[in-house]
Amino acid sequence: GGTHPHPRARAEIDLAALRANVRSLRARAPHSALMAVVKSDGYGHGALPCALAAREAGASWTGTATPQEALALRAAGLPGRIMCWLWTPGDPWRAGVEADLDMSVSGMWALAEVTAAAREAGRVARIQLKADTGLGRNGCQPADWPELVAAALVAEAAGTVKVTGLWSHFACADEPGHPSIAVQLEVFRELVEYAEKAGVEPEVRHIANSPATLTLPESHFDLVRTGIAMYGVSPAPALGTHQELGLRPVMTLAASVALVKQVPAGHGVSYGHHYVTPVETGLGLIPIGYGDGIPRHASGRGPVLVGGEWHRVAGRIAMDQFVVDLGPVGGVGDGARGHKIEEGAEAVLFGPGDRGEPSAEDWAQSADTIVYEIVTRIGARVPRVYL
Ligand code: PLP
Repeated sequence: GGTHPHPRARAEIDLAALRANVRSLRARAPHSALMAVVKSDGYGHGALPCALAAREAGASWTGTATPQEALALRAAGLPGRIMCWLWTPGDPWRAGVEADLDMSVSGMWALAEVTAAAREAGRVARIQLKADTGLGRNGCQPADWPELVAAALVAEAAGTVKVTGLWSHFACADEPGHPSIAVQLEVFRELVEYAEKAGVEPEVRHIANSPATLTLPESHFDLVRTGIAMYGVSPAPALGTHQELGLRPVMTLAASVALVKQVPAGHGVSYGHHYVTPVETGLGLIPIGYGDGIPRHASGRGPVLVGGEWHRVAGRIAMDQFVVDLGPVGGVGDGARGHKIEEGAEAVLFGPGDRGEPSAEDWAQSADTIVYEIVTRIGARVPRVYL
């Protein structure tokens, strides 16, 4: 970034695509507000620029995991509702109250810390009670829900908190038809009904993530929380490709070929010599590696567009670089279609596909992981370039 050029590698972030995705998701949940989930630096895309772009396209809420992420957005001037849900004892609840965050509360310890902070601040804390309807992770167990609801109502009556939301999170929404989905919806409806009968008047009830937003209208309630789909990526192969879902990938990850050279047949490539050139061939050095978040598990498999063709990573992905076999035809770096590849040529690891490049989903498959991890792990050494 800064004033230095960054020919080595860059992640281009297409904010117009993000805005289009937000509009498309809003059209799929027309009766619900939309929360732009920008935790973990906006899944690697940059939290603040993505949050601002999402707001322009009609997202009235922003969501993060940690309070530090939410506070940084508020400090940077992000308006509107900001919710964060991953609290740890000792976290800055008072700063959260003063920043007017919506703070998730999953248990009695959190309620005690937030009410103390609200008293100190002399302001009402906005809290959202989270139920574990079956994910088995964060959230209040149904058996403990009456106690938490009752304590929250006592705090409301004392003027320290306002329960602004009742919410939960799915375990298997990316597997349409999974029996846990209907169970979680039913438990959620029951817990919401219980809290409302007890006197809670929430502004929002919500459970849907991207997969549920895309596949399960009955889960939309007052608000949908979309992360991955907003970045233009299909949450899971079972839901279809991003094209089929009408989404446009926001991130293009590109590098420049740093060296092209001719090597003889039988030449070992990269650590461990897991690739050995079958014939005399041209090798291209791609200066990006696992230190930049490229999954080493995609060694030998990850696809890269160079000179109009896909090439697979040859041998191991190293910390800073990997190699592709550009092919044997006609001398150094000449691809099969006769494209002469020279140093400085563009290598596209993934993008929206306009130029025939692979997708982030292709990399997820090559690395035996989910596409969320592919984009989120692109590291700080790769500059983000906003389009
Ligand atoms: N809500 C919560 C609580 C989350 O942790 C996440 C991210 O995993 C999301 C919503 C967004 O999920 P997705 O990226 O599948 O839309």
